[in-house]
Amino acid sequence: MDKLFHSVYLDRSKCKGCTTCLRNCPTGAIRVRGGKARIIENKCIDCGECIRICPHHAKLARTDPLKSIESFKYKVAIPAPTLLGQFKQRYSADRILTALKSIGFDEVLEVAKGAETVGRSLEFELEGGRDDLPMISSACPAVSNLIQVRFPELVGNITTLKSPMTLTARMAREQLLANSEHNGLKDEDIGIFFITPCAAKATEVTKSLSAGDPMDRIDGAISIKDLFRPLSAALGKGKCEAGLHTASSEGFSWAVSGGESSYLGKRRHSLHVDGISNVISVLDEIECGRLSNIDFFEGLACTGGCVGGCLTVENNFVAKMRIEMRAENERGNVVPALSEDDLRTFYASGDMHREQPLEPRIFQPLDEDFDKAIEKMNEIERIEASLPGIDCGSCGAPGCRAHAEDIVKGFARKIDCIFVLRDRLETLARLTNEMLQMGQPMSEQEETEDESK
Ligand code: SF4
Ligand code: SF4
Repeated sequence: MDKLFHSVYLDRSKCKGCTTCLRNCPTGAIRVRGGKARIIENKCIDCGECIRICPHHAKLARTDPLKSIESFKYKVAIPAPTLLGQFKQRYSADRILTALKSIGFDEVLEVAKGAETVGRSLEFELEGGRDDLPMISSACPAVSNLIQVRFPELVGNITTLKSPMTLTARMAREQLLANSEHNGLKDEDIGIFFITPCAAKATEVTKSLSAGDPMDRIDGAISIKDLFRPLSAALGKGKCEAGLHTASSEGFSWAVSGGESSYLGKRRHSLHVDGISNVISVLDEIECGRLSNIDFFEGLACTGGCVGGCLTVENNFVAKMRIEMRAENERGNVVPALSEDDLRTFYASGDMHREQPLEPRIFQPLDEDFDKAIEKMNEIERIEASLPGIDCGSCGAPGCRAHAEDIVKGFARKIDCIFVLRDRLETLARLTNEMLQMGQPMSEQEETEDESK
């Protein structure tokens, strides 16, 4: 299997081996061995839960520094809709986007524009008469990854539409290249940078560099967290450039949970859920076939939606309120860029769809030999039954089942479980005591009793 890229990584020097991350990883992708955490790459979905929760800030996300834009002649920022929720209402969207230009970008195109196109196309996807309902949103890459890892049977339910981020990058590149006679730009001159609220999207950006249609390429991901200070400093300076904010309220409302499904309105039954554990509960229901009356499921890994991303700055509830207030103030202000006919043509062209279908992630079998694999499976069952079953995590695995699997795979020992170790030490202490007693000289009374026999 190809090596997976992950933006989430561990700074070993900061890790204290406290197991906090281990107990909160939704896919059991973390082990703590030798006092340090380790991420099992095939299981990691880049949800960022461990980044959020590590008390020692040892889990981080790889993103690009602002100076990386200097490698390109023409620099384009494509900010996530969440960026608007990071700043107070007194700063207009144009003012925020002007600040983004003033820190080094030549052009800004909101990802909310791509979100509009995807949102309006959802109905076309459903019109196709899918039998794998509910159709599942592909907007949150952490949720798509989760489905690939934990719910492989639902992979076919994920919509085939590209993400708003990818479509926006495509729109920006196409427009610039279409005007190359005037602007003199070649493809390699153009650097498109996503301003990201989360680790999962940063991972998607890196994937875009090596796979798929080159027109969808995104040259880097810069975190909202890293830009917050320079943007805050730039907000009060210079003249505000009018007309940079061209996205509709429906488009930038994708920053909060429910923004995407609102495109389907009352015509369809949809369900939107945020927070990775809530998403897992609903996916369990879908997998069991208990939600087949729902047309569309929008699951977002972070609390509140992208406003809760681990690379944002503002409290997610405050950011959500700001997005909602901006949306309320701007409702109906923007006419969509594409007419209904143009949108259908774009949809039919295939450029709006992923090149490669998503596939379940393949895990290494217990053994290549089927009989041996069954034997190992039985061994796992036996070991698990002998463990205390309280999933305390003190062995360095997220639960007793995972510990039993690690033992059979040769990654752990049974005595890594502190309860097993305690029992063994108690047995050892008892035996040692008995042996010592056997070797001790007899007392006077014992000698007398012995002689009288
Ligand atoms: S939460 Fe995880 S990464 Fe952070 S210190 Fe504890 S074991 Fe290490
Ligand atoms: S990013 Fe998510 S899946 Fe990956 S190790 Fe951290 S908590 Fe687990």
